[in-house]
Amino acid sequence: MPDNVPSHNPKLRRIGGFTLAELLIVVAIVGVLVAIAIPVFTARLAKAQEATCIANRRSMYAEVVTTAMDTEKEAEVFGKIDRLAKGYTCPNGGNWSWDTGTRSITCDEHPDETENPSITTSKSYLSDWNKFIDSITDPKIKNNNSKMRELFFAEYGSPLLTYQGKDYNVQPFFKSTGETWLFAREGTGDNWSANFVYDPIDQSWYRCVKENGTPTSASISSISTTEELHKYMMGELTDQWNNRWEKVENPKISSVT
Ligand SMILES: [Zn+2]
Repeated sequence: MPDNVPSHNPKLRRIGGFTLAELLIVVAIVGVLVAIAIPVFTARLAKAQEATCIANRRSMYAEVVTTAMDTEKEAEVFGKIDRLAKGYTCPNGGNWSWDTGTRSITCDEHPDETENPSITTSKSYLSDWNKFIDSITDPKIKNNNSKMRELFFAEYGSPLLTYQGKDYNVQPFFKSTGETWLFAREGTGDNWSANFVYDPIDQSWYRCVKENGTPTSASISSISTTEELHKYMMGELTDQWNNRWEKVENPKISSVT
């Protein structure tokens, strides 16, 4: 057999290197892989950038809340959000804005489209409650939690939280310090015994359970700040009955119409 004829004998083929056909096949395969990989990498990059934006907003939120707790001039701190934003940015150059109602930071490049609808409802209900509180100027009414809630319910109603086939009334709560949160319980009227609590700091619902895991309710009237509420939810603080708060991933919350 002459030297310049390609052979199917592997030993001879290796000496001659790749044939043009083999090389073309390799180039084609690499081309296909690149074509598949580039969109995957691009999607991953976008996901990573969004995750970075969310993480940065959370860090900034934590800093804002901590500063607000330190100075006790919440409105003032929230007014300086741009200054506080130093060091925290969106990797895609999105503009952040602070919603004083929901007390959350949003990015115009990364809207929270995938958010749980029950959390969206909870946020807007809490936002309505905060706006309602701001609209009341008469201190006699403002210092009366029952009256405030009565007026608010008349205007905004009360959503239902449905969990494991049971309905609980979602209700707003506020402290004279200006701190607000939501809770849900069986029945209506003024009673601070909560089966569920919506923690505005990590924007999640928690269910009250006994040490052994049985659902129960706990009084939230003695909790004075949102920060303290959050510590209870995280298990850093416990009441005298050793109740725990379990994060509820998907509570169903009816929107108020
Ligand atoms: Zn962003």
